[in-house]
Amino acid sequence: MAKIVCVLYPDSKNGHPQSYARDNIPVINGYPGGQTAPSPSAIDFTPGELLGDVTGELGLRRFLEAAGHTFVVTSDKEGPDSELDRELVDADVVISQPFWPAYITRERMEKAPRLKLAITAGIGSDHVDLAAAADHGLTVAEVTFSNSISVAEHAVMMILSLVRDYIPQHEIARSGGWDIADAIARSYDVEGMQVGVIAAGRIGLAVLRRMKPFDVGLHYFDFHRLPEEVERELGLTYHPSAKALAAACDVISIHTPLTPATDTMFNAEFLAGMKRGSYIVNTARGKLFDRDALVAALNSGHIAGYAGDVWYPQPAPADHPWRAMPHNGMTPHTSGTSLSAQARYAAGTREILECWLAGHPIRDEYLIVAGGGYAGTGAHSYTPA
Ligand code: NAD
Repeated sequence: MAKIVCVLYPDSKNGHPQSYARDNIPVINGYPGGQTAPSPSAIDFTPGELLGDVTGELGLRRFLEAAGHTFVVTSDKEGPDSELDRELVDADVVISQPFWPAYITRERMEKAPRLKLAITAGIGSDHVDLAAAADHGLTVAEVTFSNSISVAEHAVMMILSLVRDYIPQHEIARSGGWDIADAIARSYDVEGMQVGVIAAGRIGLAVLRRMKPFDVGLHYFDFHRLPEEVERELGLTYHPSAKALAAACDVISIHTPLTPATDTMFNAEFLAGMKRGSYIVNTARGKLFDRDALVAALNSGHIAGYAGDVWYPQPAPADHPWRAMPHNGMTPHTSGTSLSAQARYAAGTREILECWLAGHPIRDEYLIVAGGGYAGTGAHSYTPA
């Protein structure tokens, strides 16, 4: 029998919800490109309910306990005596997620000799030390595509809200004002702007597709060139580097995984190469940026606005400068954990567990590390072509 330790974000201070804004969510059976949605043998939750907090337990308890496994769920992940550290020592599987990341470090792996599988309930396994996982023979799997469209929608929302300067206008409306001249002092149309994505994987391509009807010029940079017919269909301009793309665009949206090669790649020099008045959206990872260089670029006015939902570390401390920097549209790490996304990543986590517990192969598209190196999606997305 296996022991599964799962780290999820804490319940709301008001408790786990008893009712919801909507009675159901649309059924999504597949994704662009033909990948099918998660297909576990069954689910023990109602799609649309909160599953990503400690009480939600990703809807896994009944299934795991009925089969005799031990299932521990906690949000306590920091410090040497955290519940995660205490429970990990004899665990076979750890489930973690990017929103409330339990950093699965080499040191933690060394203290957990039975650990064989690290599942990311979501997408983006950079909070797991992937080199150490390969060295320790761990399999790392994530629920590829489960929240890609969720994040793409969030990125598009942020592009529009930055360029049109929506958030301050809403504040004026809420506070009883009618100060139109103030409200529009930084408000522009997106139409006609040059919009680029850095990394055109599942999320980046979905952002390009969603921006197309806004009649903008579309640009991208990725190690992997998109098929010619997609470039033609969307009228894409390909750039040979992130720097070249940034110099040509008014808006950039970032979708690269965080790897040793992309860590702080967006630094003072990169920002200086952008046009004055550019906007940046980053729903990929906070650590891709030099934190203070970004604050300086917003303070100087060189960058007109920055929005994103990813920080480093997470949770971000109350005095993290991105909370207060000018013209920011930050959210906590929410884009990939809408109630709609949770239904998919919870089902995908169960699918991965069902496969692993039965000794069946995990879908290639869910694999990041296996057999001592990058595998599946990891081999495509985490290493340069
Ligand atoms: P994906 O694997 O489909 O695409 C990643 C793309 O990045 C690939 O096409 C790859 O070639 C490219 N790439 C890798 N390194 C690059 C580099 N240095 N420069 C240019 N391109 C590079 O992944 P995805 O589903 O689109 O997700 C992308 C990232 O978004 C994830 O790694 C994760 O960090 C982040 N994410 C965030 C959330 C959220 O809630 N905010 C949710 C899901 C994913």
